[in-house]
Amino acid sequence: SKRRGRNNFSFYTQAFTTEATLRLQMETLLRRAVEHSEFTLHYQPMVRLSDRKVIALEALVRLNTAGQHTAGTLGGSVTLSPNQFIPVMEDTGMITSLSEWVIEEACRQGRAWLDAGLDFGRVAINLSPSEIRRGGVVERLAEILVRTGLPPQHLEIEITEGGLMESGMGAEQFLQHLHQLGVFLTIDDFGTGYSSLAYLKRFPVQQLKIDRSFVQDLPSNDNDGQLVSTMISMAHGLRLHVVAEGVEMPDQEAFLSSLGCDVAQGYLYSRPVPAAQISQMLTRH
Ligand code: C2E
Ligand code: CA
Ligand code: CA
Ligand code: CA
Repeated sequence: SKRRGRNNFSFYTQAFTTEATLRLQMETLLRRAVEHSEFTLHYQPMVRLSDRKVIALEALVRLNTAGQHTAGTLGGSVTLSPNQFIPVMEDTGMITSLSEWVIEEACRQGRAWLDAGLDFGRVAINLSPSEIRRGGVVERLAEILVRTGLPPQHLEIEITEGGLMESGMGAEQFLQHLHQLGVFLTIDDFGTGYSSLAYLKRFPVQQLKIDRSFVQDLPSNDNDGQLVSTMISMAHGLRLHVVAEGVEMPDQEAFLSSLGCDVAQGYLYSRPVPAAQISQMLTRH
């Protein structure tokens, strides 16, 4: 909205109004989507590099475009991505209902795969920082695990590094409680926070997920190569597993393998797809 020079006040006001209107329309659309359960989950495999076995599936939320209401400028053909709608849902508190649905749906699907004899390892969900700050997540998780009958070792929780730092002093205790539930804990988008690494040895996490920004220019970018190599050695030194996200090319995979990275995730293996398309990637018990 600061695209024009100083004497173009009317343009500025207009742009600002448009922005505010768009935001309001997005909120309305999301509120309806929550009321009418217009979300779905897609799943993306995480693959063990030593044998390409699928060892986990990340659940990623999608706004169901088929059922999307027309809300002015946002209506019709426009599809909102989680990067666009999750922040709005965090600001407005809608994230609590969304998150509850995501956890329940992922656990229910995990239970269904178990019942079908499919070996998916773990189903991973993302938790928002604002969810953590608000509290009550551990209790809700425990309750959903019981209700859906998914054994906790089949659930993985991804929390961003930034998210943990924002939740302040409570972070360690929060993770301890999750750990006591028996779920698997991963630090997401590792390397993007500017926090101290000292927390890694205190937190009861099992895995680090290296952010895509460090992976995308491998293997040609030497700086990224050095950083990724260091992250992997450090993680292994702390007896943590390492996942690299955003792996798209065979030469990225080869490079990561040569550094001893444990797991990879990205378009090279599969895009996030509906649950129905996941079964063919899994082996039977
Ligand atoms: P994230 O947790 O870092 O998820 C990885 C994102 O990278 C996903 O985008 C995924 O589709 C995308 N991706 C995976 N492989 C590749 C690849 O090889 N190349 C590229 N360019 N991208 C790849 P998506 O699904 O649009 O989600 C974006 C973000 O929205 C997620 O980032 C996460 O922070 C958030 N999000 C998604 N679902 C949920 C949810 O259920 N709850 C919460 N709290 N956040 C969610
Ligand atoms: Ca994630
Ligand atoms: Ca990530
Ligand atoms: Ca990321």
